[in-house]
Amino acid sequence: MTSSDPTAPDVLDPETDPSATYGLDQQLVRRLTGLLHATSGTSRRAVSPINGQPLGDVPQSTTADVEAAFRRARRAQAAWSRTTLEQRSAMMMRLHDLVLERQDEIIDLICWESGKARKHAFDEPLHIALTARYYARTAHEHLDTRRVAGVVPALTRVEVNRVPKGVVGIISPWNYPFTMALCDGLPAIMAGNAVVAKPDAQTMLSALYGLELLRDAGFPEDLWQMLAGPGREIGTDIIERSDYVCFTGSTATGRIIAGKCADRLIGCSLELGGKNPILVLRDADLDRAAEGAVRAAFSNAGQLCVSTERMYVADQVYDRFVAKLVDRVNAMSLGASLDWGVDMGSLISQEQLDTVVAHVEDARAKGATVLTGGRARPDLGPFFYEPTVLEGVSPDMVCFGEETFGPVISLYRFSEEADAVARANDGDYGLNASIFSQDGPRARDLASRIRCGTVNVNEAFGATFASIAAPMGGMRESGMGRRQGAEGILRYTESQAVATQRLLRFAPMLGMSDEQYAKIMTFNVRLLTRLGRK
Ligand code: NAD
Repeated sequence: MTSSDPTAPDVLDPETDPSATYGLDQQLVRRLTGLLHATSGTSRRAVSPINGQPLGDVPQSTTADVEAAFRRARRAQAAWSRTTLEQRSAMMMRLHDLVLERQDEIIDLICWESGKARKHAFDEPLHIALTARYYARTAHEHLDTRRVAGVVPALTRVEVNRVPKGVVGIISPWNYPFTMALCDGLPAIMAGNAVVAKPDAQTMLSALYGLELLRDAGFPEDLWQMLAGPGREIGTDIIERSDYVCFTGSTATGRIIAGKCADRLIGCSLELGGKNPILVLRDADLDRAAEGAVRAAFSNAGQLCVSTERMYVADQVYDRFVAKLVDRVNAMSLGASLDWGVDMGSLISQEQLDTVVAHVEDARAKGATVLTGGRARPDLGPFFYEPTVLEGVSPDMVCFGEETFGPVISLYRFSEEADAVARANDGDYGLNASIFSQDGPRARDLASRIRCGTVNVNEAFGATFASIAAPMGGMRESGMGRRQGAEGILRYTESQAVATQRLLRFAPMLGMSDEQYAKIMTFNVRLLTRLGRK
C-alpha cells in the first residue's frame, strides 16, 4: 500500500493560537450554521478526521429549538400540501441540476468532514441527483388518486387517495453525511410532508450544505428544518413530535427508536446495520470478482451499511481468487489527500478506529491469519487503518458475526453452493449480498434464497443502491421498511379510501325484512363470485 500526499500538519487550535488555521473557509461555516435552529449558546467543534484540523463551530439546539422547528414545519406543510406535483417536481429537478453543478464543492466538504476518499464522496451527490430525478419523474405514478373495484359493480365507486403524514422526523448517521441527510427526505416532501432532520453531530456541515441547496432549488424555507445535538436528547425530542420517523443508523439505536414510535403509535422506517456476504462461485470472472470485492469491502473504509465483511469463495477457485484479491489490496493507495488518486481514506473517529483494532486483534489472538493489512497508520492521519483481509476466522472471534463497520473482510471456502447460501444467511442481519458468477440465471436463483433486502450480481452494492426505482433496506435485524422505489415514498403517506354509493343502500329497502335482505345479498355475492369478481 502506498500513501498519497499525506498532509497531517501539526494541528493547533485557532481559538488559542493565532498562527493556527481552520480547514474550511469560516464564511462558509457561518453561512451553513446560520441555517440551524440552535439557541443553546453552546457549540460543538467540527474537526476533520483527515488530520485533526478544526473546521468550525456548530451551534447546538435545545428542546425549545425542536419545538420551534416543528411549529414552523407544520405551518409550512399546510401550505405545501396544496402545491401541485408539477410545482414540487420542478423544484426537485432544480435540486438535481444544482447538486451536479456544485458537486466539487460538495465533495470537498464531505472529504474534509468525513475523511473519506474523493471517489467515495462522489457517490453522495450522485445518489441525491438520481433520487431527486426519480421522484420528480414518478410522482404521479405513486401519488395520484386511483380507482379500485367497489363492492357493487357500477354502484359503488371507490377511490384511494394518498395523504401526506404531516411532519416527518429524519435521524441520520455520519457515514454518508450528505446523501443520508437528504435522500430520505426528498420523497417525504415530494409526497407533501415537511421534514425536521437531525443529522449526526460529527457531520453537520455536509448536511447543512444539502439544506442550503434545497433552499436554492426553491423549496420553501420552513419546509425542511435542521437541528444539531446529541441523538439521545434532540433525537428523542424529534420522535416525540413527529408524525413518522425515518431512521438510519445502528441496530441498537433502531430498536430504541422503534420502541418510542410504537409508544406513540406512529410509523417508522429503520435502515440499520449489516454483516454483508459476497459469494464467489466457481464460474466467476475472478478479476471482476476481485475488483468488485475491493469496492465492496473498502468503499469509505468499510464504513458503509451495505459494504461486505465476509466472503465465501468456491474451493475450485479459492487460491487463484485470493492471490488476485490480495494483489489488488496491496496496490491500493491510502491517503489524506482530496485528490482523485486516493483509493481509501480515513476512518471517521477514534471510536471507529478502536473498534477496528479490537476486531482484528481479537481475530489475530484467536488464530486468524492476516493476509494483508492489519495495522493502524498514524503516519497518514489519526484514524487511518489499512484495508485488511483475514483468513481462518472462526465463530468465537468477534468479527465473525458482529458488524465491524471498517475495512476488514474475512475469507471462507465453500464446496457446495447450498452451504454457501446457508452460511450467507447465518446471523441476525439481512441487508445486502453480492454474488459473482458468469451464469446469470443461476446467480439470480441463488439470490432469491438469500435473506437480504438487496442482492447484487457481479457488482458490489452500487447496482441496487443506485437503482432508485428498486426498494432498498434490510430484512431481519437490518431494518424495517424500505427507502427508494414506490415503498420509499408511500411510507410517508396514509392511504385513504373514499367510496361513493349510488342507488343501493347497505340495509333492507322497500319494506323487505333483514332476513330477505341477507338472502338477496348472499345471492348477489355468489353470482358475482361465479362471474369472476375478485
Ligand atoms: P447510531 O445509531 O449511533 O447513530 C445514528 C443517528 O442516530 C445519529 O444521528 C445519532 O445522533 C442518532 N441517535 C443515537 N442515539 C439516539 C437515540 N437514543 N435516539 C434518537 N437518535 C439517536 O449509528 P452510528 O454508529 O453513528 O452509524 C453507523 C451504523 O449505521 C452502522 O451500524 C451502519 O450499518 C448503520 N447504517 C445503516 C445504513 C442503512 O441504510 N441501512 C446506512 C448508514 C449507516
